[in-house]
Amino acid sequence: MPDGSPAILQKKIEVRLRYYEDLGIRQFYKDRRGSERFHAGAAPKATDSQPVVSDEEISLRKSATQAKTVKSAVPTPAVGAAKPAPAPIVPPSGISLFTDAEKMKDDSLLKIREDIGECTRCKLHKGRNKIVFGDGNLKARLVFVGEAPGADEDKQGIPFVGRAGKLLTQMIEAMGLQRQDVYICNVVKCRPPENRKPEDDEVSTCSPYLLRQLDVIEPKVLVCLGAVAAQTLLETNRGISQFRGEWMEWRGHKLMATYHPAYLLRNPAAKADVWKDLQKVMAELGLQPPKRAKS
Ligand code: URA
Repeated sequence: MPDGSPAILQKKIEVRLRYYEDLGIRQFYKDRRGSERFHAGAAPKATDSQPVVSDEEISLRKSATQAKTVKSAVPTPAVGAAKPAPAPIVPPSGISLFTDAEKMKDDSLLKIREDIGECTRCKLHKGRNKIVFGDGNLKARLVFVGEAPGADEDKQGIPFVGRAGKLLTQMIEAMGLQRQDVYICNVVKCRPPENRKPEDDEVSTCSPYLLRQLDVIEPKVLVCLGAVAAQTLLETNRGISQFRGEWMEWRGHKLMATYHPAYLLRNPAAKADVWKDLQKVMAELGLQPPKRAKS
């Protein structure tokens, strides 16, 4: 039986549901019959008119997994529309792990960190030095979500402190902010071996903690840095270049996906696109770029 058969997928969903309950995330789905809906074949079908774009163009890490082939509907913003409404992406299964999740009552970043503990829930713990939970302003209006810690982050336990992190810091400062004004975190909290892309099981094990972090901080705007963050939160396999720079809606927050700073280090020409995306974020937050000192 192929791996994507409804029976296997339903089993996977059940296992995942149990796991979320173990984490204390109850009523994660408003409608458990969602899996029946899925079973009944009501999920949106992939069509040839929705090509899947490989994310190799922006792949930051050595991928240990094959590119996925599930497709989902990313609405195309209206051409010429002055301000397109934030567009939700419908997950391929029709069942959203994020949209319908209820907020945990009285949650806090401290509780989330305590719940993570000295985590051994996925295989990434084996090579980890430090868990990289998140850093910055606990009441930030702007949160950046990256992919996974690298070597420097793993040593220090702080996200985005290596070369890509220095570029991110410059980007934040160009927006007229300081690092301590924003919150920065990742989809997975432990460094993948040889900086490979986090695998599906690692992402699904760790993402409930990201969900809780974002629910506690309640930023006005979320910026997903790179395909892994964007695809995880938006539950899509579409290539980031298809929707970067467009406002999306995520659990009541405005979400902007843009390229990862590590990609920019290798492809400086893409900085112009990212700057355009960040200017939209600045406009949303009423930010002005800092005035340059006269020389
Ligand atoms: N890349 C990421 O995605 N996150 C980090 O924390 C560092 C590099």
